[in-house]
Amino acid sequence: MIEEFAFDNSEERRKVRQNGTGWVEVIAGSMFSGKSEELIRRLTRARIARQTVQVFKPKIDARYSVEEIASHSGQTHMSIPVSSTAEMLALVKDETEVVGIDEGQFFDDAIIDAVNQLAASGRRVIVAGLDQDYTGKPFHPMPHLLSIAEFITKTHAICVKCGSTANYSQRTMDSDALVEVGAADKYEARCRRCFVPHADTPTMI
Ligand code: ADP
Ligand code: ZN
Repeated sequence: MIEEFAFDNSEERRKVRQNGTGWVEVIAGSMFSGKSEELIRRLTRARIARQTVQVFKPKIDARYSVEEIASHSGQTHMSIPVSSTAEMLALVKDETEVVGIDEGQFFDDAIIDAVNQLAASGRRVIVAGLDQDYTGKPFHPMPHLLSIAEFITKTHAICVKCGSTANYSQRTMDSDALVEVGAADKYEARCRRCFVPHADTPTMI
């Protein structure tokens, strides 16, 4: 029942925890697919279970609020903005059992070792992030995080053109920069058919 592993409180998870082993969960998908909502849901449940939770987000994402992670639907959770993986690691407290990380795609490559290290120290690590950039290419370091995660959840948005399952973040403004922080003003969710490929988009799309 692999599905069960994507959610809190499964028997399997409890067993892992009792054995003192940590693990990595990755929540990946396009913009507006509910990654932040799902991250906030898991963190809230961990806090209800009286676990010590710390949440980090890269400083690059200045949307909404600096001290919080926020979903497009308005849910928020407190978080600590950091400018590097090293800064994040230095801020993780001894007593922290659950480490949440939002916008994982904006971290440097050191996040991979850091996540492994946090899990090896018995912690539950939950990373949310975009798995593809606006051209449809894998958004590093998310592919690497997906490959080391014990549990993966792929979230989907709704295509704004046709209502199908959306897997792409269509940039609606004119820019070739990899990172253009924004939300509905700069991007929209599109399905495979309605996504208009960028010049850099891999040909298999
Ligand atoms: P993500 O972190 O993946 O960008 P969020 O968790 O911030 O997503 O936001 C998800 C919410 O965005 C949905 O619950 C819904 O209220 C809103 N939303 C806006 N546009 C869309 C869309 N095209 N498809 C799905 N949800 C959308
Ligand atoms: Zn569509």
